[in-house]
Amino acid sequence: MGGPWTLERIRELDETDPLAEVRRRFELPHGILYLDGNSLGALACGVAPRVRAVVEDEWGVGLAGSWVTGAWMEAPARVGNRIAPLIGAREGEVLVADTTSIALAKLVGAALDAQPDRHVVLSTSDNFPSDLYAAAAAAARAGATLEVVDRHGLQAALTGDVAVVCLTHVDFRTGALHPIPDVTRAAHDAGALMLWDLCHSAGAVPVDCEENGVDLAVGCSYKYLNGGPGAPSFLYVRRSLQDRLDNPLPGWLGHDAPFNFEPVYRPAAGIARFLTSTPPVLQLAALDAALDAFEGVAIGAVRQKSLALSDLFIDLVDEADVPGLEVASPRPHDRRGSQVSLRHPMAGEVVAAAADRAVIGDLRPPDICRFGLAAPYLSFEDVYRAAATVIEVARTL
Ligand SMILES: *Cc1c(COP(=O)(O)O)cnc(C)c1O
Repeated sequence: MGGPWTLERIRELDETDPLAEVRRRFELPHGILYLDGNSLGALACGVAPRVRAVVEDEWGVGLAGSWVTGAWMEAPARVGNRIAPLIGAREGEVLVADTTSIALAKLVGAALDAQPDRHVVLSTSDNFPSDLYAAAAAAARAGATLEVVDRHGLQAALTGDVAVVCLTHVDFRTGALHPIPDVTRAAHDAGALMLWDLCHSAGAVPVDCEENGVDLAVGCSYKYLNGGPGAPSFLYVRRSLQDRLDNPLPGWLGHDAPFNFEPVYRPAAGIARFLTSTPPVLQLAALDAALDAFEGVAIGAVRQKSLALSDLFIDLVDEADVPGLEVASPRPHDRRGSQVSLRHPMAGEVVAAAADRAVIGDLRPPDICRFGLAAPYLSFEDVYRAAATVIEVARTL
């Protein structure tokens, strides 16, 4: 690609976009350009009717019988199996339950309990703060510590005392990617387990957990998977590890025989042992319907379009050369997730002024303007117009 860009050239890109049809699977309000799908994904068309049916028919009429007739109990595993192909996992390796921070605390705890001779959880200072809070607390409870290093200091910190390396694949501020194959291999070379947070990857950046020997992963479903506000997280445990790890927060749903109501916990075989509680049925229904928008869509095609959209955004910002406005996301494709972050000394004002003109991004203080590029529902023209608005408001500040 490369400038100069004209609306005519942009429209040609839209006309030849293989994902153009997928946009119609979403209901976006008219008049706004929504580049915040990395915070809360857009509403897919099938979600409202599905939730309404679950509320009115399954709950309203079927009542408690719907635990069986609506297969509510199976939903965490069933919806997990739909997310599995998006992260390169196999059937029976993914559950949808809890929230990301809780799932992460569970898996960090499980990894530590399984390796009592190792006392360190390793992460980086630019990780999502909640991940660091959850990992630190899980480590402390297991008599271990969380060691936080600069991302360039990871290799040096990978000693024989590290039980689990806990990183977020795509940096939430800048969109910078950790290379999953290299980092996972380095963790394994040091005898540690590897846990990836895929919050900003699932549904946008292809990940191959199986191919790369990823041990554990978590991620949220309300960003690029469009599961809706409060949608539960997903949790992945490599099959060969499932029976070697224990859930540090056991509950009846992870019991081998939940409806025997035995006084003593016996973990279920396989991934089910990582469940704790009753599933959030309405949220799972919303997520399940949202995942229909990915039917027949290759995640590789989503990635290709997302990279083209972000290249366009970056090109336009470069071309405009506005004093104070600079691209904070890495430029090489293999180092950038599905967002473009811009640095500006008055980032808050840029985001607010753009929102006043119906271009929705978000602020990550102190100086990052963040724009998520959800390829299933954004067109090249959307991104062209959004970038023009951001450039214009930044110029006048
Ligand atoms: C959005 C996000 C979360 C969300 O955590 P919850 O506990 O589900 O609220 C966690 N980690 C990362 C990296 C995120 O981007």
